[in-house]
Amino acid sequence: MAQLFYRYGAMNAGKSIEVLKVAHNYEEQGKQVLLLTSKLDTREQSGYIASRIGLKRRAQALGASDNLWQIIQTENSQADCVLIDEAQFLTLAQVQQLAQVVDELAIPVMAFGLKNDSRNQLFPGAQALLIYADKIEEMKTICWFCSKKATMNLRITDHHPDYGGEQIYIGGNETYYPVCRYHYFNPPLTNN
Ligand SMILES: [Zn+2]
Repeated sequence: MAQLFYRYGAMNAGKSIEVLKVAHNYEEQGKQVLLLTSKLDTREQSGYIASRIGLKRRAQALGASDNLWQIIQTENSQADCVLIDEAQFLTLAQVQQLAQVVDELAIPVMAFGLKNDSRNQLFPGAQALLIYADKIEEMKTICWFCSKKATMNLRITDHHPDYGGEQIYIGGNETYYPVCRYHYFNPPLTNN
């Protein structure tokens, strides 16, 4: 039976590489995958899923007004699996459309993304997936500053921790680090 999977992790948890690995496994068996990502991911050229270890491939880039039921049901109904990177940027309506794809078209959907933003609030896509997903799994990575599990994303702007502001800055000079709870509040930064 098809299911809606939500796999979340902090920054650098290897989400994109996992998307590419799952796609490869399906294709090795002669199956078709539909790869989707977000237009809001500005780290790479739009329309690519790219991993930090260098692998990348094209994906359809989604905006907030795209209807995933239509995209999948009318153009990609032959897909054996739908894989989504940067799923934190999905809207509630899009997550509900994905649930409809799973339930009515029996196509499995796997969504990968962040859970909490740098202010420790849920992304809209994360909140909806926590409610609608059949299976939820954590992808683990370690804190940038110690060996504990990273569960939060610390935003550093001009050498200072940034706990407020917008959920996402486009093209700013901020940097994000995966951190444990202790180092979220106590990052060992030097001011220089
Ligand atoms: Zn730590």
